[in-house]
Amino acid sequence: MSSSPLTAEAVRDWVGGTYYDRGKALAGDRAISGGRVYDVSGGVRVAARCTGTYAPFYRVAATVADGRVTASACTCPVGGGTEPDAEGRCKHVAALLLTWRKRPDDFIPDENPRVTLARRFKEELAEMVLALLNRSAQTDEEAWEHDPEEYDPDAADWYLAPDPAPPKA
Ligand SMILES: [Zn+2]
Repeated sequence: MSSSPLTAEAVRDWVGGTYYDRGKALAGDRAISGGRVYDVSGGVRVAARCTGTYAPFYRVAATVADGRVTASACTCPVGGGTEPDAEGRCKHVAALLLTWRKRPDDFIPDENPRVTLARRFKEELAEMVLALLNRSAQTDEEAWEHDPEEYDPDAADWYLAPDPAPPKA
């Protein structure tokens, strides 16, 4: 966790006065939902969805270290969309950070998979990989008991199902 709390001034410094004011209004309107927070090296990363003007939701995230914003990203046009060098200094980032300041309990602690895996012992990781390989082999067999036409693209896990392989001669 960051050693000092994020101040409203730090948020204003990051996005500028105009976006700070608009973000504050958005935060007041409860525009932020689905908040997550997880540890990253030297700080925390917060991420959420924010209701948007040109899309139902924008994805917004920011990294906070030692009371300062060090990075942010937003999928809105101002935040830079999906440009890799986008700086993400927009009202949605302000809304995200101000919401997190005011209602930290709305942000569910999430494990960074990289951190989770790094904490595990080698033997444990080996077991996990073996279990996954085993499951993948089983799924390949099960796929054969299915008619490919039955795949429902609306099912939540349809993309996890392997493409049916041609029958072995
Ligand atoms: Zn934005």
